[in-house]
Amino acid sequence: MNVHDSDLIESGLVKKGFKKAVSVEDADIVVFNTCSVRDNADHKVISELGRLKKNYADKKIVLAGCFAKQIKLKKEQNGNMYFDYCFAPEEIFSIPDILANNAAVNDIGGSNETRQDYYLAERPEEYLENAGKIEEYFYGKKPENDGTASVKITEGCNNFCSYCIVPYVRGRERSIPIGIIYKTVKNLIDKGASEITLLGQNVNSYVSPDDDKKDFRFLLNTVSEIEGSFKIRFLTSHPKDFNDKLIDTVCGDNKIAKEIHLPVQSGSDKILAMMNRGYNSADFLKLVRKLKNGNIDISISTDIIVGFPGETEKDFEDTLKLIEEAEFSSIFAFKYSPRPFTKAFKFNDDVLLEVKKERLERVFQKYKEISLRQCAR
Ligand code: SAH
Ligand code: SF4
Repeated sequence: MNVHDSDLIESGLVKKGFKKAVSVEDADIVVFNTCSVRDNADHKVISELGRLKKNYADKKIVLAGCFAKQIKLKKEQNGNMYFDYCFAPEEIFSIPDILANNAAVNDIGGSNETRQDYYLAERPEEYLENAGKIEEYFYGKKPENDGTASVKITEGCNNFCSYCIVPYVRGRERSIPIGIIYKTVKNLIDKGASEITLLGQNVNSYVSPDDDKKDFRFLLNTVSEIEGSFKIRFLTSHPKDFNDKLIDTVCGDNKIAKEIHLPVQSGSDKILAMMNRGYNSADFLKLVRKLKNGNIDISISTDIIVGFPGETEKDFEDTLKLIEEAEFSSIFAFKYSPRPFTKAFKFNDDVLLEVKKERLERVFQKYKEISLRQCAR
């Protein structure tokens, strides 16, 4: 998602007449698009800002993305963080104009609203008004050299998983109109794309904002009907919204890649409930079975969080058991990190770092065992 946003920023700037520098040394303006999903991402941003200030004091620094939004929400002052401009994810469309006019937007605090008011004051329709620019920005864009291209279909998230900062830094879920997605994808296919990834925090809750409220299945069918030989992928699906009809569409359409990313996060029902994921381990395994029965060649990858507050050895063993049963084709595992604004931020982060590290290692070990078993078949 962040790479996609960086692309949008780049396309917007190039369209405005800015030239892409070959290196930081060569640049007058450095745009730093940031993530904020785990605390190590924040630490990297802070240290990189320090490095930029030390080595390139003469350059204008543009801080953009989720970390920028975090600063705005907290109304933090620059302090030891050096930047000239600060743009939240929903503000990236204004970067080209503001930089071209050289306007000063160093006022990161905005008005005097409280954090909650600021957050509620977001205007989803403003993002949708800007959605047209996605198409416009992408018009001149080509697929990557390997034929891949990504197209954002939703922004933000309404799920409020208790550990996750995304709904706060990216705001409520807004779906891009289906016509814009269609034209953007068609344009990329016409330019030779062989693989299109539809992007969103929870793609299967897509609802076109047009009057007819088309859903994600309709969108998949629409994209699939574009002429040409290409594969469709999507990221990320939420297990609670993966219904039987969607399974049929995924399994029955040759253009849809049979590799699904389906983050489970934990195998413990207690932890899943505390995470507010909206399913339990049995629901998840049932979904995996349905997907695999529908198409034996389907592979499913996942995300796991280890060391969520209150995760006991038994809870963690339930996760290992679920990994064993689901036979994931790949696993992205993370140590839990408390994020500001989230519900879990107030929970006691009681699993020791050493234990988190050890559990992470055991997840990778379990994954290795499964992979070896799969190779031996
Ligand atoms: N929208 C996607 C995930 C977005 S974040 C989904 O719901 O699946 C990508 C991954 O980062 C998540 O799946 C989760 O495993 C991890 N993650 C998110 N917040 C985290 C936190 N506070 N600590 C550790 N990992 C986290
Ligand atoms: Fe975060 Fe949950 Fe939304 Fe994914 S579905 S972005 S984990 S709140």
